[in-house]
Formats: sequence, C-alpha cells, structure tokens
Amino acid sequence: MNVPQRSSERLAEPEAADALAPAEAARITPMMEQYIEIKAANPEYLLFYRMGDFYELFFDDAETASRALGIVLTKRGKHLGKDIPMCGVPIERADEYLHRLIALGHRVAVCEQLEDPAEAKKRGAKSVVRRDVVRLVTPGTLTEDTLLDARRNNFLAAIARARSSSEASIFAVAWIDISTAEFRLTECDRAALTAEIARLEPGEILVSDALYGDPELGPYLRTLAGVTPLPRNFFDGATAERRLADYFGVATMEAFGTFSRLELTAAAACVSYVERTQLGKRPPLSPPSREPQGSTLQIDAATRANLELVRTLSGNERGSLLSAIDRTVTVSGSRALAQRLSAPLTDAGRIARRLDAVAVFIAAPALRHEVRSILKAAPDLARSLARLVVGRGGPRDLAAVRDGLVAAERLAQALAPAADDSESDIAATRAALRRTDPALAAELGRALADDLPLSRRDGGFVRAGYAAPLDEARRLRDESRRVMAALQARYADDTGIRSLKIKHNNVLGYFIEVSAQHGDKLMGAGARFIHRQTLAGQVRFTTTELAELAGKIANAADRALALELEIFDALSARVSTEAASLKQAADALAALDVTASLAELAVERDYARPEIVTALDFVIEGGRHPVVEQVLSTDSGPFIANDCDLSPPDGDAGRIWLVTGPNMAGKSTFLRQNALIAVLAQSGSFVPARRARIGIVDRLFSRVGAADDLARGRSTFMVEMVETAAILNQAGPRSLVILDEIGRGTATFDGLSIAWATIEHLHDVNRCRTLFATHFHELTALAGKLTRLFNATMRVKEWHGEVVFLHEVVAGAADRSYGIQVAKLAGLPAAVIERAKVVLAKLEAVDRVSPARRLIDDLPLFAAAVRPASPQPRSDAALEAVIALLAALHPDEMSPREALEALYELKLKAADRPSSPAGRPREGGDP
Ligand code: ADP
Ligand code: MG
Repeated sequence: MNVPQRSSERLAEPEAADALAPAEAARITPMMEQYIEIKAANPEYLLFYRMGDFYELFFDDAETASRALGIVLTKRGKHLGKDIPMCGVPIERADEYLHRLIALGHRVAVCEQLEDPAEAKKRGAKSVVRRDVVRLVTPGTLTEDTLLDARRNNFLAAIARARSSSEASIFAVAWIDISTAEFRLTECDRAALTAEIARLEPGEILVSDALYGDPELGPYLRTLAGVTPLPRNFFDGATAERRLADYFGVATMEAFGTFSRLELTAAAACVSYVERTQLGKRPPLSPPSREPQGSTLQIDAATRANLELVRTLSGNERGSLLSAIDRTVTVSGSRALAQRLSAPLTDAGRIARRLDAVAVFIAAPALRHEVRSILKAAPDLARSLARLVVGRGGPRDLAAVRDGLVAAERLAQALAPAADDSESDIAATRAALRRTDPALAAELGRALADDLPLSRRDGGFVRAGYAAPLDEARRLRDESRRVMAALQARYADDTGIRSLKIKHNNVLGYFIEVSAQHGDKLMGAGARFIHRQTLAGQVRFTTTELAELAGKIANAADRALALELEIFDALSARVSTEAASLKQAADALAALDVTASLAELAVERDYARPEIVTALDFVIEGGRHPVVEQVLSTDSGPFIANDCDLSPPDGDAGRIWLVTGPNMAGKSTFLRQNALIAVLAQSGSFVPARRARIGIVDRLFSRVGAADDLARGRSTFMVEMVETAAILNQAGPRSLVILDEIGRGTATFDGLSIAWATIEHLHDVNRCRTLFATHFHELTALAGKLTRLFNATMRVKEWHGEVVFLHEVVAGAADRSYGIQVAKLAGLPAAVIERAKVVLAKLEAVDRVSPARRLIDDLPLFAAAVRPASPQPRSDAALEAVIALLAALHPDEMSPREALEALYELKLKAADRPSSPAGRPREGGDP
C-alpha cells in the first residue's frame, strides 16, 4: 500500500504559504479564519479538516487526538504569535481512526473540501478552498461496516418524560438503528425505563438538557455511556408530529398508527438528531412501530448481567447464553437473535407462532439445510441498503443488494411447500421475500463486474458491454496506454538508453525517467527532453508529446470514471426507490436465519418445545443449563438434568423453592437454568429440558449475594441490598424471581434474618414464583409455616469422609453445610481440617436445638406481624372515602341513632377495601 504523502496539491494551497511567513505571524490567515469559523459552529466535536489527502486537526483538537490515537503532534504556522499544534490522519485510514475516537467517547465533525483547489485558484491567488462540515460522527449514527459490530445492532435512543398529575412520571423511549433502518418506540414507567435501556444497550442516548440535570434521573443518566444532552427544541412536543411527518414525507403520522404525544416527542428527537448529524440527509427509516407496554418480558440491568444473557459478568461474549445458542449463519440473523433474546415476548399466541415456525424446520431437515446453505451466501442487505440511501455506499453494497435479492428469490421458492398455512410466520416471511422487484436483481446482475473495488471512485465496477459510451471511453483510455508503451520503446531506441522508462506518480503525472549516469545525455539532446526533476539516482524529463498523450489518457479515464459514477448513481437511486420492500426482505432473511438456526440448535442439543400457558404454571422436567451443559468436558461427567415445579399448589400464587446444599453442589446452576429456560421459551426457542410448561412470566429478577460478586470488584453488601429491595418492591404475581444466597455478604445472624424476612415477604406480599438458594439451612424450618414454601436440596454423598456432589435436586433439607469437607477438597492443610472438626463438634454440642428452629415456633407469622405497620397504598379510594366521611362527622351534634347509622356506613365503605394487606406491589427503588 502507498504511504500517503502530504501532497503537493495541499502544500500549493495559497493560504498555507501565508501561515508560514514569519512576518505575518500575528495576522490570522484566510485559511485559519475559515477553520476557526467552522470549528466555532461545532464546538463539541473534534474537527477533521480536509486538506488534500489528509484530515488535519488543530489546536486543542490536535492535542486530544494525538494523545488518543498515538499519532505525532506537529505544528503549522502561528496563530496570534503562538505555534498552532497540528496532527493529521490520511483519508484512506480515516475510518480506523474514527472508530478509535468514537470508541473512546469522542465525537467528530468531518469537514470536506467542497471544490477543486483549482477552482479556488481561479478566484485569485489568495482565495481559500471552500470547505464545510458534511457529517457529524457520533456513536449512535454510524453506518460504515468498519465502524460497526456486524453482529450487533447499534441503537440511537431518545428518552422523553412527562410528569403526570400524580407524582409518578411516564417516559417514552424511541430507538432507531440507522444502519438497518429499524425504528421503534414505547411508553414505560420509571422501573421499566431502566429495563428498556438495559435491553437496548444504545450506542447513544438523547435526552433534553433539563432531564440530564434532573435530580431524579440525572444521576442514573450519568452512569450510562454515550448520553447526549440536547437543547429543548429537539424535544418540543408541539412540533414533534410535524417534524416526523416531514421526515417520512407524509401528511400525518396517523398513517403509521396511533402514538401518544410523548412517544412522538421521543421519536422526533431521534429524527431531528439524525438530520442534524447527517447534515440534512435522510437515511431511510422504517415507519416507527409501537411496542405496547408489557409486550416484552421486563428484565432489569442487574438481572441481565447476572444471567449473562448476551455477555458474561466479566464482559465476554463467549460463555453467554447468546453465544451458546447462536447457530445463525448471517450477521443480520445474529443481530436479530440477540434482539429476540433481549426481549422475550409475553403474548402466548405470538410465542406459539414462533415455536411453530421452528418446529417446521425441525420436522424438515432437508429444507432446513437448504435454507441455511442459501442464507450462508446472503449478504448484510440491511446495512448495505442504508449506506446506499445516504450516499455512503460503494459498488459492493450494490452487489449486496443483488445477492440479497437472489437469495430472497431462491428462499421464497424453497419455502413454498412449507408456507401453506397463510397465518404462519413462515408464510409471512415468504411473502416479504417475494415483495421485491425481480427486475432490479437482473439489472444489477447485468451492470456489475465480477471483481468490485471498495470505493466507487476507483472505477472499474461496471461490466463491459453494459453501457456503450462507457465502453468507448475505456477503449480510448486503454488505447492511449498502449501508445504510451510504444512511446517508451521509441524513446529508448532514439536515445539508445535501454533502461529508459515512462512512469507515473501523483505529483508529476507521467514522466520519463533515466538513471543518473544517462541524465546528461538527455539534457544535451536539444529542446526535445525537458528536465523536470533530479533525484539521487535518477533524472526525470518530459516532452510535449508525452504531455499531450498524458492529457488524452487523463481525459479518457476521467470520462470513463464519470460515466461509471453516473451509472452508480442511477442504480443507487433505483435501489432507494425500492428501499421499503428491500428492507422487508432484509428483515425476512434475518428472521428466517433465526428460525432455522433455533431448529438446528434444538436438534443438535436435543431441546424440547415448551408449552406456553396463561396460568401461573412453571413445570420443568429434566431441565439443563444451556451454557454449563455445553462447556462440561467429557471427563467431568455428563450434565445432570433436574426438575423444578413452581406452579401454584392451589392455583392462586406460585411456589417458592428453597434450595439448600453445600458450596459447589450446583445450586446456582440450577437456579439460573430455570430462569434461562423461561427466557428461551418466551423468546420462541425450544428449551434444554425433557418437558416444560411455562405460564407467561412478565418480569424476571435475578440477584446474587455479595460474596459471589466480589470478582467484579464493585459489589458490596449495599448493592446486594439495593437490588433485593428493587425485587421486593416490584415483583408481582407473574414475576419469576431468582435469589442466590441473599444475605451472605454480612454477619451470620444479620444475613439469616434478612434472608428470613425476604422469604416471608416474597411468600405473603409478592406471591411470585421464586427460587431461593441459601447456605443457611436453618431457613428450611420455614416450610412448616409458609404453605407454598418447598424445600429442595442438592444431593451429596459422603464417602470415606469425602463429599461427592451428585448435582441432583431432591425434596428435603440439607442437614448441614459440609463446609469442612469442601474445604478439604480445596486442599486446606490437614491440620487445619482436623482442628476445624474439633471446633465444630464443640459448637454443635452447645447448641443442640438450633435457635432458628425455636424461633419458627415463637415468631408470629410475617403477615400478622407486619400488618399494623404496613402503610396502605395512597391511591386507596375506599380509605379516602372513609376518612372523608369521618372528617364530616360532628359527634357532639349527633343523636345516638345518627351515630349508629354513621357507624354502619363507615363499616360498609371500609368493606370495599381489598383485604390483602399489601395490595399491588409498589413502584420505586431503582438499582
Ligand atoms: P453452588 O452454587 O451450589 O456452589 P454451582 O452451581 O456454582 O454450585 O456449581 C458448581 C459446579 O458444579 C459448576 O461449575 C458445574 O461445573 C457443576 N455442576 C453444577 N450443576 C451441575 C449439574 N446439574 N450437572 C453436572 N455438573 C454440575
Ligand atoms: Mg452458588
């Protein structure tokens, strides 16, 4: 590859010379004036200022960039008597540097030369090349493959808030991926907001300045990466609909469905920001589609992290649920799978349709293999399409559209026999694949050459025979090149210098080159050879003949390239008009990949179709952990499948399983596998179990006691408690809660008490399906009092004083912790083990009857104990009515009979109230 040189073209710019003249040091040169003006208009951005083949950065920008990128900081001229710091990046490597700057949290304004320097020169020797910013590069508005992770979406999200009359705020979130044209929005409350953001993991989040400074939300927003506060006009509700309608070129947004004003506000902030960063260009976006509140399983950030859905706690993709189940063969399929897994559904019908589609591919292996082999050759249609429409596409993007269309056509044919049920997902997918224009694929097939350059500026991508004028220009160009070769041979003959060559570079153009020892010979050859340059080993010349021929070649090449670019634009325009149907085809390809890959997975790993019901059942037979089962090596033995049943014993509220057992027995694995099975099932995947019946879960919570989290280096007992508080405040009857060793991060009695009270609260107030692992085996005594509490334990065998883990979950309680045996396994010195045994024996002798067991009998039940102290929800209308009635009574003025009547009325009013001490779970307590 050529190392880019700062070109003569750039050095020849008149303004550059000015900057270097010492006498003028104090004066601002016209070029600096232009730079300062452009920079002032984009103060928050690093300014990439185009000069020839480089983007240059000046002043503070140069210092920031040189530090961030490790590139040399130089200086260029003076400004107000001081050196101007400068550094530059060559344009062909600009993407790579942009990528690094964006990843480090910087934003970049790309400023281009808007005219040929020759044009500027025509206006006078001192005029400056016209330049302006053509694009703002921010983390949420990227389209280039080099800047994006192919297997993940990159969302730009906007959050808008409305304060309702009661104290609770409502939020709207809109999110788009301009690299794939997706556009969605939803409304949610405060707790769901954090869950939504955790699910989307946006590259950039837009909020109003006011929200960013808000005492309630500000601190949370400042924990997130890529938050961009914007002036209020971006979030102006009054103009929101108009801005959106404008973007989509429609009269009213009602064309796309009904949206609340708040949703429109968030959505409008997104499109206004896109227009601002793309400098008026409008990348294609699908019309916004609304996700009704509650249509996806709500999973907060801590739970997502803890369950390692898309990455592990240490931040790796390997070892996550997603990587364990991803059998997709396209990057767009991989993106779609990540989305599905991040947003499991709550609608039994929609889940069943997804499962039906997977089942079709399981039942038809030949079809599955065919579909997957066609998909393997399919390109990333969505992203190529987006680039073409914003004018950032290249010839290979056109080829991607061509190949995408071909794949769509072949898939539509392959699917015909499987799509007979017109209601099915597969039929819908097939219909989307067939909505594209077959003539477009044919046209692209005729137009594009076999080998395509990366950039359209390189030319050579149009197939010979496609356009006659182009063929003609190319013929001229190539002919001139042959004439050039003949000229070289003639000069060599005429001069007798066999090594004479005609060469080309960017600075001199075509020239004749001979080695130094022959230089004098040509110098003396009369006026024929005109000297141009003397280097250490060579001397360079030109001739009038050569200059003319060079001009011809350049003209023919320029004309050929211009014609190719015209063809490119015409084809891009054609693609753009088809953008909507192409986007649907792209989505269909991705969906098909997901479905076929889930079928592949189910067959490969022997997954079963889950039965999704609307009751509160939760029955897993022979469940396995999808990740652990895959990483268990053959010599560590097979994964032991386990059952779990959290279904309500009386149809009313779910069970709590209290899982005890020593460390390393498999408690955490068991807990997580059941949560992961629920996530997979509601995402529309088969599950690692022999049989599963799952009553729709609406919220999933998972927390781990502090000790397990120390590896993360930030967890403390406080975090554990804050997270537990969030669960106790938010979990409802449809929730699934996983609590792993809560209370472990503090002293034994503290921890035991907290775990105790937590279980009681879950049982009596939250009434949700729960798995609770603990090493406090004292808690198992609670089963005597809490009717829906079920004791389960991990079977262990003691064998010659050693503990053997069977990884089997059985009914019952662990009688002891086996801590000493585990310590022995870990290799603690024998003397320490022996001593510990002695101490333990003494302790157990002192405390024959466990204090916990005694407490069970002494303590009143939780509900009875807390009822008087528990405040009623403030929205209790009946209570307010009773209070109002009481306030209106005047006992001194009442007859005994009136008093008695008032008493009856009070009693009647009070009877309207719900009898449960808790009512609905309350909001609040964000992690
Ligand atoms: P605990 O939470 O009880 O300390 P873990 O769930 O962390 O135990 O499990 C410890 C190890 O035991 C796991 O890393 C895994 O290798 C193994 N294991 C757990 N469950 C099973 C199982 N059902 N079958 C086989 N191995 C298992
Ligand atoms: Mg554990």
